[in-house]
Amino acid sequence: MKLDDRVHFSTLCIHAGQEPDPSTGAIITPIFQTSTYVQDALGEHKGYEYARTQNPTRAALEANLAAIEAGGGALAFASGMAAIGAVASFLQSGDHVVVTDNTYGGTFRLFERVLRRYGLEFSYVDTSRLDLVESAFTPTTKLLFVETPTNPVMSLTDLGAASELARRHRVKLVVDNTFASPAIQRPIEFGADMVIHSTTKYLNGHSDSVGGVVVATADEDLDWLRFYQNSAGAILSPFDSWLVLRGTKTLAVRMTTHSANGLALAEYLAGHKKVRKVFYPGLPDHPQHELAKRQMKGFGGMLSFDLGSLDAARRLLNNVRLMALAESLGGVESLISHPATMTHASVPADRRAAIGITDGLVRISAGIEDIEDLQADLEQALGAV
Ligand code: PLP
Repeated sequence: MKLDDRVHFSTLCIHAGQEPDPSTGAIITPIFQTSTYVQDALGEHKGYEYARTQNPTRAALEANLAAIEAGGGALAFASGMAAIGAVASFLQSGDHVVVTDNTYGGTFRLFERVLRRYGLEFSYVDTSRLDLVESAFTPTTKLLFVETPTNPVMSLTDLGAASELARRHRVKLVVDNTFASPAIQRPIEFGADMVIHSTTKYLNGHSDSVGGVVVATADEDLDWLRFYQNSAGAILSPFDSWLVLRGTKTLAVRMTTHSANGLALAEYLAGHKKVRKVFYPGLPDHPQHELAKRQMKGFGGMLSFDLGSLDAARRLLNNVRLMALAESLGGVESLISHPATMTHASVPADRRAAIGITDGLVRISAGIEDIEDLQADLEQALGAV
């Protein structure tokens, strides 16, 4: 389908990259569950030779994700971590990367425990402070890897200013946009060179698939990513590609409710006497609320709050009934978790303390259930604290 350049985001979500199947007219891209493709004659084929290299279901998803992130192209991988690994493949031994200090724990683990062994260097800085970013740059810095909002303390990085700074230093800006989704924030429009996602989260949206994507802008970056995807082979499967495609069709409407529920829960918790502090960019007392209003369209469904102690957090987590105690985020159902012992358990205790992940911190991924039911669940669970 030829889409008008001016179509709006929700229309792109539904239609971008989606063609009726040429052999049947099926409106939904089929799951091409095949490993190979029959060739018409020696050297004559329909653009598909082997399914690690090309798959029509994955190609439809990649076109869809490139469009909704405003990129030039996209490559889908078997997980968010595989997508981050693909970004790391731009680096060579001796290169240096500046990373947001409270980046996802798995990203930290990949960088520190795996990639350092290949002679790469990483510096972790508070990227909400661009003066700190600039002073962390060295002559060998090749990437600025930013997460905004961060997990789980919801600190923001000014994407426009970060991209200007990166450009001045000839450093590529890569943004992990998993927490916001392109419905809320489109880093490429602020000058980012690449965006990565764990599609496991909001893009798929239904907690039933693990995947990742890299969206890029420059042709040479896309050429390398395509080459790397085929060489390393951690592709997204046809079925998972189909699931994520199905997910993105409702991304715009889901994110509206995720954001509304996130804001309502943050406001409720901020007024609760047992809650010491709430971390949510939509609250006026968030230190970067003005930046959030400029850079984000809605504030998303992720929030965290401090109950003061591990014991208080445990009591709350053991008493929720509707919210599920689970890692991950971005699904239609609300999840609640304890970063210090779950998502960030692989981060050393002193680093956790430095980035504000206390033992009393609880994280919520607000789903799209009725807000009154979510609030009632927290109310009764806070009663046990
Ligand atoms: N980036 C962020 C912000 C995440 O929260 C996660 C997973 O939780 C990842 C990357 C890794 O994604 P995956 O679990 O799909 O490998």
